[in-house]
Amino acid sequence: LGGSITRALQQMSNATVIDEKVLNDCLNEINRALLQSDVRFELVRDMRTNIKKIVNLQDLAAGHNKRKIIQQAVFNELCKMLDPGKSSFVPKKGKTSVVMFVGLQGSGKTTTCTKYAHYYQKKGWKPALVCADTFRAGAFDQLKQNATKAKIPFYGSYMESDPVKVAVEGVERFKEENRDLIIVDTSGRHKQEAALFEEMRQVSEATKPDLVIFVMDSSIGQAAFDQAQAFKQSVAVGAVIITKMDGHAKGGGSLSAVAATKSPVIFIGTGEHMDEFEVFEVKPFVSRLLGMGDWSGFVDKIHDIVPMDKQPELLQKLSEGFTLRTLRIMYEQFQNMLSMGPLSQVFSMLPGFSSELMPKGQEKESQAKVKRYMTIMDSMTNEELDSSNPKLINEPRMMRIARGSGRLVREVLDMMEEYKRLAKVMKRLKIPKKGDMSALSRN
Ligand code: GDP
Ligand code: MG
Repeated sequence: LGGSITRALQQMSNATVIDEKVLNDCLNEINRALLQSDVRFELVRDMRTNIKKIVNLQDLAAGHNKRKIIQQAVFNELCKMLDPGKSSFVPKKGKTSVVMFVGLQGSGKTTTCTKYAHYYQKKGWKPALVCADTFRAGAFDQLKQNATKAKIPFYGSYMESDPVKVAVEGVERFKEENRDLIIVDTSGRHKQEAALFEEMRQVSEATKPDLVIFVMDSSIGQAAFDQAQAFKQSVAVGAVIITKMDGHAKGGGSLSAVAATKSPVIFIGTGEHMDEFEVFEVKPFVSRLLGMGDWSGFVDKIHDIVPMDKQPELLQKLSEGFTLRTLRIMYEQFQNMLSMGPLSQVFSMLPGFSSELMPKGQEKESQAKVKRYMTIMDSMTNEELDSSNPKLINEPRMMRIARGSGRLVREVLDMMEEYKRLAKVMKRLKIPKKGDMSALSRN
């Protein structure tokens, strides 16, 4: 998708005369690309209408950066479509919340329930999982296995066939045990949809969830809107989680899910593992959808705050550095982040990196964490810092590093896990090559 949109914009900026036809051709090309990415036809059509209202031919003809004007307009429109204008319920630590998961079978509910519980557990919540899928054989075993691995209390039954009963019993039990985040996993049987929606309605009525999360597989394509709408009509869906974003799907269906449920996407699933779960952020997502990375705003920021003569060097560094190929590269990025100079402002804007490492509201703890990691890395050898293979740092080495830095082996292990995670996040961000970087810069 990114490719064809870039191509469309390129053709447009090469045209000597920008008239209605050139603009239309360009928009047609963009629309085709969005449709291929599973963005719903109606949404694409609305977007086109809006863009034609915003993009003014006179401005384009006057020699402003055409590519950028249109790209920005498309970007803004897609961001608007992903923003339902209200945020979703957020559980409060220490106060009981019930969260119910709904979605078709195979969409990733059971996996996502555990990821969600694990995410909050790491932040100090006391989650618990209730298996109200009495339809599928093995559903309880699957949840049990996941929950055990994540050390999260669970409830379910092999005998009881009434999902409402199991859900209510589980929720009651965990309320008594003062768990503050009670998560109800449900069935998502195929083919008996009327029965499924009635079951969802009953479970919801009986457990009175504070939030219902609709889980959707990113690869279902154009079916996204109808599926999301069907769930919304039977239960009060308040948030969406899109799974399997690690696959080939472009994720255009998320726009449909938001439009159909009028609820925000809150997380995305990026793999089968418990930690492959990310807070959803609109702008980086749209950048990815458009294949441009969140770099246009970023490059502007560099122009604003970095001295002229330092800019080329920095751009060059950026296009090389962010693959986090080695621990040393991560160390240098940490230094930059902590330096508090204009660069730290740049880094705080860096899509992905800082938001992963320093979530909003936790800056203090995160800074301490970064400093701890740097202390640990100070006890590493050059070979270790410059290796692109994290497996090099085996147990004996970890023990030596821990001793040298006065930290626990556990902390060295944590740092390596975090490194691997960040490296993966950064890899998916698609760092533009040098040429593309300068194409993004002003004029
Ligand atoms: P449910 O039927 O809705 O409960 O779905 P499950 O949680 O059982 O998931 C169905 C399959 O999708 C399982 O094999 C999961 O491991 C897999 N899965 C779930 N989420 C993700 C994801 O984000 N990425 C990938 N690659 N696989 C996932
Ligand atoms: Mg399941």
